[in-house]
Amino acid sequence: MIIAIDGPSGAGKSTLGKMLAKKLRLLYLDTGAMYRAVALAVTKAGLGFEAKEKVADIAEKAKIDLIGEPDALKIFLDGDEVTSEIRTLQIAQAASVVSTNSEVRKVMVRHQREIGNAAPNGCVLEGRDIGSVVFPDADIKFFLTAKPEARARRRYEEDKTRGRVSTYEQTLAEINERDQRDVSRADSPLTIAEDAVVIDTSELDLTEVFEAMLAKISEQRASAA
Ligand code: C5P
Repeated sequence: MIIAIDGPSGAGKSTLGKMLAKKLRLLYLDTGAMYRAVALAVTKAGLGFEAKEKVADIAEKAKIDLIGEPDALKIFLDGDEVTSEIRTLQIAQAASVVSTNSEVRKVMVRHQREIGNAAPNGCVLEGRDIGSVVFPDADIKFFLTAKPEARARRRYEEDKTRGRVSTYEQTLAEINERDQRDVSRADSPLTIAEDAVVIDTSELDLTEVFEAMLAKISEQRASAA
């Protein structure tokens, strides 16, 4: 079973994706972490993001591994653990820029399909283009969204618990900038797939969204049986 979860930053995709993967015993794939790892590799190579071909070459050669249980997932780049290094604001912005490179997207989409198809029980993939590009035939597609203020508030609280220094206003501006880039890029912009189940999480707590998603999955399984 392939479950696609798309939506803007801070809508709850990661938390809910991990919860679903755990509950349903599926592999969890955080595709944003893959773009972040490429951004880190480019930064480490001292390259500018406008060097499109060189950046694509780095994406092709980078060995990106996501290892471990959903809630203790570790990210490796060329054998080195980069789990926290890819979570900085700087890398978030860099990932947003690197993800506009079509050649990079081609490489990432290929990896994501390979990983999803190889998962014995199936996979929950979370990102921006899963239902529209990576797995257009996913068994079920969710599009999670929320008002920018609610998303920024969550991201801000999350950052605080991780010890990151930022203000709510900075977080909101950062989220808006990345979202704008995601919806306006030429290749695979963030869109709601026609057959996606859209959930606005602004006013809902985690459990309510989780239950709603599980109910949809059961419905889908029953109709496919
Ligand atoms: O989800 P996360 O914030 O970690 O993703 C980092 C960036 O990678 C996003 O801002 C987005 O621009 C990009 N991304 C993407 N396609 C995906 C996942 C992430 O373009 N499937």
